[in-house]
Amino acid sequence: MPSDPSWTPDSAALQRNLAQVRRLRWLYAVLLLTLTALMIAGQVAVQTFIHRQRDDARIINIAGRQRMRSQRLTKCLLAWQVAATPAERQAYLDELRDTLKQWKAAHQTLQDGNSETGLTACSTPASRAALQSTLPHFNAMVSTLEQVLATTDATGLPRPPTPEQFQTVLKHQRLFLARMETVVDELEAGSNACRVQLQVFGWVWLGVVLVIFTLEGNFIVRRALKQTTAVIREISLARDRLASLNRRLEQARDAAQAAARAKSAFLANMSHEIRTPMNGVIGMSNLLASTPLSGEQREYLETIRSSAESLLVILNDILDFSKIEAGALHIEQTPFDLRECIESTLDVIAEPASRKRLDVAYLIEDNVPTTIVSDPTRFRQVLLNLLSNAIKFTEQGEVVVTVSAEPLDDDEPSLTKLTANDRPRRYELRVDVRDTGIGIPPEAHDRVFRDFEQATETTYRVYGGTGLGLAISKRLVEMLGGNIWFESEVGRGTTFHFTLLCESAPNQPRVYVRGSLPELENKIALVVDDNATNRHILEYQLRAWHATPLMAASAAEALHCLQQPGTKVDIFILDVQLPDMDGLTLAREIRRQPAYARTPILFFGSTMEESLKAQLSTFAPSAMMPKPIRLMRFQRQLEELLAPRPEPAPSTPQPLFDATLGQQHPLRVLVVEDNVVNRKLAVRMLEKLGYQPDTASDGIEGVEAILGAVACEKPYDLVFMDVQMPGKDGLEAVREVRAALAPDMCPRFIALTAAVLEEERRAAFAAGVDDYLGKPFTIHDLVAALQATSPLTRRHRAKSTGEPDSSLPYSTR
Ligand code: ATP
Ligand code: MG
Repeated sequence: MPSDPSWTPDSAALQRNLAQVRRLRWLYAVLLLTLTALMIAGQVAVQTFIHRQRDDARIINIAGRQRMRSQRLTKCLLAWQVAATPAERQAYLDELRDTLKQWKAAHQTLQDGNSETGLTACSTPASRAALQSTLPHFNAMVSTLEQVLATTDATGLPRPPTPEQFQTVLKHQRLFLARMETVVDELEAGSNACRVQLQVFGWVWLGVVLVIFTLEGNFIVRRALKQTTAVIREISLARDRLASLNRRLEQARDAAQAAARAKSAFLANMSHEIRTPMNGVIGMSNLLASTPLSGEQREYLETIRSSAESLLVILNDILDFSKIEAGALHIEQTPFDLRECIESTLDVIAEPASRKRLDVAYLIEDNVPTTIVSDPTRFRQVLLNLLSNAIKFTEQGEVVVTVSAEPLDDDEPSLTKLTANDRPRRYELRVDVRDTGIGIPPEAHDRVFRDFEQATETTYRVYGGTGLGLAISKRLVEMLGGNIWFESEVGRGTTFHFTLLCESAPNQPRVYVRGSLPELENKIALVVDDNATNRHILEYQLRAWHATPLMAASAAEALHCLQQPGTKVDIFILDVQLPDMDGLTLAREIRRQPAYARTPILFFGSTMEESLKAQLSTFAPSAMMPKPIRLMRFQRQLEELLAPRPEPAPSTPQPLFDATLGQQHPLRVLVVEDNVVNRKLAVRMLEKLGYQPDTASDGIEGVEAILGAVACEKPYDLVFMDVQMPGKDGLEAVREVRAALAPDMCPRFIALTAAVLEEERRAAFAAGVDDYLGKPFTIHDLVAALQATSPLTRRHRAKSTGEPDSSLPYSTR
């Protein structure tokens, strides 16, 4: 049945049928050839018969004329005897001679045929035998007549034949004529027999052809038609079944898509449900951290905060994963600064790396475009995943990121010439993340990119994790048009590589130009670092700035280098953790040498504790830099050390909550939030920033409060509106307010949402919100939102005078 779901096409039967049709085609061809051969044979036979009939007719004609000639011979003899004048005699004599000659030649033709005219001799045995029987009489007549002619020729006188000679001729002529009669009869009989043979052949030929046609029709054409019909039936059946299967597949796909949509909606809801209380946990712990606490309490609080943040990371991973699965993850294409993006990603892992005392370094090769067009968030996410793994699975050694680029159109040899007006070019960007960690055993190589899989059973117990990081990274990299793979050796380390297709952004000025540090040009810089990769990167960079780098792998090597005659170092670049002597001691040793009492020292290290920093600051002129070395900061530090500018006034550290913000930037604020904890949290945070917000616990109350405030001429400047609320949700409330109030009386709406799907965000903007804060939000997000809002009165004034609203420190997102 076409609708039978278990149906599978019987391709073996179809193949068999097709093979049979092919065999029949061959057989048909063979029979067709046989028929053609028969036709040719028939035609040859007919032609041969026609030829033979013509020959027979000519031979019969000659045989008939032989009889006439023999009679003419006797007539000439008779006429010669009775001729009255010698002239007449001579004429009969000549005729006799000619006739005899013709007669002899014709008889020769009858016997042997004539090669000149292509005439064959008597063909049938009977006619040949009859001709043979004429020969004695023929010969007798010929010899008698030749005697007569010979006598005449010998004497020169025409002498008539003797009566005996005449008698002999007459006697043999009679017998000759009778025998020739038989010859003609036999020839005619032979010709008739040949005709009969042809008729028989014709009938037999027709019979054979008919038999072949019958066989062909019955065994080939009929069977071929049957097989072809079977094949056509099978194919049309298969087509019907495939159409039905396709319909089922489409239904199944629609169902699966609906399920995927339901799943991602469920995950979005779950995420919302989890994020809402998480907002309370993280926010409240931040508030708690700003209160006086004992050491033990602070430690517990830190654990709560870090656990909540880990939970958020897992939540984000699962959400990303489900978004990719549901095809709801969209890749952006925006220009971004690659080095900036890499450096900020490295910043995130700098702290865990320094806790494990790992060296982190990165190298961006010279031909890599400064600004590329791709998805910065996803690029960062992949890099962060790989870096987090590298840090997680490495106990000692280093983690190194290398970035290179391969131009995809090779019309220009190098990117170093890229200027602001250069047109964009396509690149394959390649990022390598190398670590010196535990490595991945070969048997686990296939597993690590799979969803929720880890390399070994013990990985989870020792390191935790969900096994989703690489699965997500792989899909993201593929969405970015690239590939991800790795090489690994157990106990020695792993290198992950990924590529992506991107374009260099046009009209982006190149910030990091080789040789753009004139302060360092032709200066000697002594770099002391035990990490070879770091040394390599620093050397590469210093050379790019036209300095002369001296490289030392240990303090001893560095001191030895200083002892070399003629060496005058202009700047020291020291790692604070060296194997043989720490950076502090080395700096002291350097300063002890009078030549280097005031030579600038740039310290860098993965751990920069406050006490160490205090000690290092005594080596003026000096500066400190955390590892991994960020090129822009490195450049700035070197500039400052080599060409010092007046010290800026020391800035006091900014407290987490600036309680004066409310006075500096007064606003009337309303918080509409149904969740008690989150409402309390928002109010507390705002209070700590110096505001006195009003609150509403759902959409209905919120709308009433906003409209009421306008009626009392104390309109709100800013409303934090939760999106999901019972009764009237936040978006409905915003729509209602926007419909009820003139635009210049509307507060600025900031949605508080744990929504993670792009559509939800779009829906929020479509409803009329001005911006949103994703839950859980930080104090910085809140401050930014407050600063981006100007009071209604000022907005009002700006509008009526047409002035730009100068109070807006940021443009809104
Ligand atoms: P998650 O990233 O979801 O928190 P995870 O790190 O265990 O968990 P993945 O990032 O997907 O998951 O990595 C999968 C597995 O691959 C890891 O569990 C680990 O066994 C192995 N692995 C990944 N990177 C490295 C690395 N740099 N060195 C050694 N093993 C690694
Ligand atoms: Mg991971």
